[in-house]
Amino acid sequence: MIEGQCLCGLVTYRYHAEIEKTIICYCKHCQRAQGSLFGWNSPLDKSKFEISSGIKFLKEYFHSPYKARVFCQECGSPIYSYRVDLPDVIRLRLGTVTSGQLPAPTEQAYLEYKPSFLHIDE
Ligand SMILES: [Zn+2]
Ligand SMILES: [Zn+2]
Repeated sequence: MIEGQCLCGLVTYRYHAEIEKTIICYCKHCQRAQGSLFGWNSPLDKSKFEISSGIKFLKEYFHSPYKARVFCQECGSPIYSYRVDLPDVIRLRLGTVTSGQLPAPTEQAYLEYKPSFLHIDE
C-alpha cells in the first residue's frame, strides 16, 4: 500500500496496490507544472486509488483539452494527472508519497529537455 499527501496535508490519499513502475518526464509542461527539473510519476490503476481526505480542495487544470493536472488549491501541490481518453489510469506525482516502496525510474521521457548537469542511471 502507498500513502501520500499534499504539502499542507489537507489532501491525503491511499493506493491499495504496489507501485511497479516509475517514470521521469523532462517535458516543458512537467517542468512548469512542478516548478522543477522533471516530473516523477507513475501510472496507477484508478480503481485502487482513493482520496482519503480533502477531496474538495482538489482542483483540475486542463492545459490541453485531453489532460487534467490535479492539485491542492490550498498549497499548490500537484497530486496526479489523467487523460480524458484513458479514464482508468491516473499518473501520481511521486514527490507526494509518504509511505510505501517507490522503485527507481525505468523510463525517462523528453530527454532533450534534461539538464546536462543531471545524472540518473539508465
Ligand atoms: Zn495542500
Ligand atoms: Zn511531461
